[in-house]
Amino acid sequence: MKLGILGGGQLGRMMALAAAPLNIHCRVWEPEATACAQPYSEHLCKSYNDPSAMSLFVHGLDACTYEFENVPASLIEALQLRIAVNPPALAISTSQDRLVEKAFFQKLNIPTAPYRAVHSLPDLEVAVAALGLPAVLKTCRFGYDGKGQFILRSANDIAIAWQQLSAGSLSVSLVLEGFVKFQREVSQVAVRNKTGDIRFYALSENVHRNGILHRSIAKPDDVLSAKAQQAVRQLMEALDYVGVICVEFFDVNGTLVANEYAPRVHNSGHWTIEGAETSQFENHVRAVCGLPLGSTATRGHVAMLNIIGTHPDTQKVCAMDGVHLHLYGKSEKPGRKLGHITLRYDDAASLQNAFDAVQQILP
Ligand code: AMP
Repeated sequence: MKLGILGGGQLGRMMALAAAPLNIHCRVWEPEATACAQPYSEHLCKSYNDPSAMSLFVHGLDACTYEFENVPASLIEALQLRIAVNPPALAISTSQDRLVEKAFFQKLNIPTAPYRAVHSLPDLEVAVAALGLPAVLKTCRFGYDGKGQFILRSANDIAIAWQQLSAGSLSVSLVLEGFVKFQREVSQVAVRNKTGDIRFYALSENVHRNGILHRSIAKPDDVLSAKAQQAVRQLMEALDYVGVICVEFFDVNGTLVANEYAPRVHNSGHWTIEGAETSQFENHVRAVCGLPLGSTATRGHVAMLNIIGTHPDTQKVCAMDGVHLHLYGKSEKPGRKLGHITLRYDDAASLQNAFDAVQQILP
């Protein structure tokens, strides 16, 4: 069987590695010559605008998916005429625009931060008056890892935030969100296949640093699991979803406030490679290829630490039992995700001890 993947970053790499034991081969369409997925897949190194690339990509494919959410919507539409693409187009177009995404959550009665659309400086002033400060101004499209965001703390920030995010453009689409005073951030990774079977992974409790995910801890018995699963089930059914999805929530005194969803495998689900019976990557491949899903049961006590900017000492990391190193084959650069470390133990105390020890090793 052959699976086509739009995008060839680390998510495509881990998808291709998970597909291999099922004898499913991956072809990635990725314009970058140094794609992370390249060593483990067939690499179509062409621009997404190249008119000759589409036929080369779909030739001989049995299924098609993507590993980044900023795939041009027009490309998905054109591809769909030739091959089934999953997750479905509605899932990606909705998640690509924060305003559309928030309206979708609200239609399903899933709470979000209060928000206002902002297209001009006067709009921003009206929105600040309505929501109060602090508040977070975000670009509606193409924001990731905290990029395209500005936290407004005082009235003096209004003009600065507008200038920074509008970048002098006259037609700009921004959203102002009320600042959510959350106790913690959690995410729910789940998978749905073509027959509508749904499986949920343990809730992940996430800590971000500078807008980038720093660490996730699996919480199989979390008090908010049932609420998170109910919201994600509603979302997946409304989208007629096929594949892995991740919904990020703020926990506000036990109420889950949805921040955003990713229509793909997600960094906060990387712990599932060693920490779940079937990883998010394998279950995504199974779902989009029309196979039954594997168990999502958690295997013991699990956490994940991201490797950002600088590589750790491989010798030291590999010397620790229960610690699994994943490197994506990238060069070092500040703020770049270079890999991750999964820690898996049979008891909570061992996980905590190892976690503290690994943090000492990380640069
Ligand atoms: P996002 O790009 O929307 O995932 O935001 C990145 C990070 O910024 C989140 O994980 C939160 O830590 C923080 N953040 C985003 N939106 C809000 C908000 N409305 N209130 C408080 N913190 C936020």
